[in-house]
This record gives sequence, C-alpha cells and structure tokens, in this order.
Amino acid sequence: MLDVMPEGDVVWRTARQLEEALAGRVLTRSDFRVPRYATTDLTGRSVLAAIARGKHLLTRIEGDLTIHTHLRMDGSWRVRPANGPVPRDHRVRLVLANAQWQAVGYLLGVVELLPTTHEDQVVGHLGPDLLGPDWDEAEAVRRLSAQPGRPIGEALLDQRNLAGIGNFYKAEMLFLRGIGPWRPVDGIADLPALVALGKRLIEANKSRPVQVTTGNPARGQESWVYGRAGRPCRRCGTPVRRASQGAAPEERVTFWCPACQPA
Ligand SMILES: [Zn+2]
Repeated sequence: MLDVMPEGDVVWRTARQLEEALAGRVLTRSDFRVPRYATTDLTGRSVLAAIARGKHLLTRIEGDLTIHTHLRMDGSWRVRPANGPVPRDHRVRLVLANAQWQAVGYLLGVVELLPTTHEDQVVGHLGPDLLGPDWDEAEAVRRLSAQPGRPIGEALLDQRNLAGIGNFYKAEMLFLRGIGPWRPVDGIADLPALVALGKRLIEANKSRPVQVTTGNPARGQESWVYGRAGRPCRRCGTPVRRASQGAAPEERVTFWCPACQPA
C-alpha cells in the first residue's frame, strides 16, 4: 500500500504495548540513538505510563520526565524479551529495557525528552483525541466549523481539529458519508454524523492489526476507496480516483468515487 501513515488506532495500540511492557518497571537500560540525547541515561528510573495523544506517544518516567516520540511515516515500536540480542540495526532510534522486556523504536520521526509538566508544549495544540479520555465530539465539530471554506479532506487531517485521523480513515469516512474530499466544511449537511462515524471506525479498529472499514478483513477487501485507484467502486462500479490534496508539505494523496461522492 502507499502512503500508509500510522493513524490514531495504530498509535493507541503501540502505547498499550509499551504500557504493558514498561509501566511499573525499572529501566535497566536506555539507549537514545539520536545525537541530541546520545549521553542521556535513564537507567534506574521507573516508567510510570505510556499513553497516546492523537498520533503522539508519551512515555512518562519517574522524576518529571516524558519521552515524546512520534511515528511519522515509517516509525514503529517492537517489544521483545529482554534476554534477546540488542539490535544493531541502524534504523533503531531508541531502546528502553527492563528486566523482562526491551522496547525498540525504529525510524521514529520524533525523539525528545521534556518535563512531564511541559507535555502541553508538544500535544497542547491537538484537538479532541478520538481515542482519548477527553474525546469531545461537539468540540471537534466546533473546531472543524471554524474554517467553513476549507476542503473537508484537509480539515479532517488537521490534528488541531481532531486528533488521530490519517489518510485511510479520512478517505473511508468521506466515502461512507457520500462527501467529495474537496467539498468545503460548510457544504456538509451533517458534520456531527461524519465526526461520529470517524470515531466509530477508529474505535472498531483499535484492537486489531488490520484496518477494516468494509467489514471484510480479507486482503484487498478492507477498504472502500483507500488504495483502490482505478478499480471499480464497490457500490457503483465507477473507477475510484486518486489525487493529491493540500499544499506541500501537508500534501497528501486522497481516494474517492466521483459518482458516490459529489463535490
Ligand atoms: Zn461509487
């Protein structure tokens, strides 16, 4: 697949894995493979929690420290038994280990350490988190509505409006509601229903490894339009279209059925 950026559900699942492996345990090793923190050593400190905020990961460490990481396009975390070999892979950005587990972060787009009390500096701008304890549908709708002329396909990806939606859910939500990605926000009859659908889709996928919106997890059957350019729409047979939307560097590819999703 193309342009597959980890979305809120993937980050949520990653946070849960890190929480299970690290929280409540003392670090026996920390290995920051980014120049800025090359000498940082958190050995001996307990990990308090690992949480997701939108697409950001916050790993809280005893002593008012938070490790902020972001997967960006290619990042991932893997948890392995601690007695395995320490990876020498050049893609590794951060290793956090305790007596039982080592968590290895690959190609993380952001690795930074900050005081836990200053987390708002990195996540305070985010809109309501679709998978967070603070989810507030009305607030997400209010933020989206504040820029009425903006194309909905761009507005949904802006994490200041609501946090957690990426390209996959954006394309699928708009298909399911019959809305063209370039339609302005104020041209959408029922914005709350669109937002509520996004919440349902991401919530339904958060605990499974494959993102599915069609109800069919078979390979190639998972999506209505995402990743299906040139193939027939599953509803009407019209070829699914693909185009870039938004201005660089926020430009993203989008998929839609021109018949089912009028502009
Ligand atoms: Zn169609």
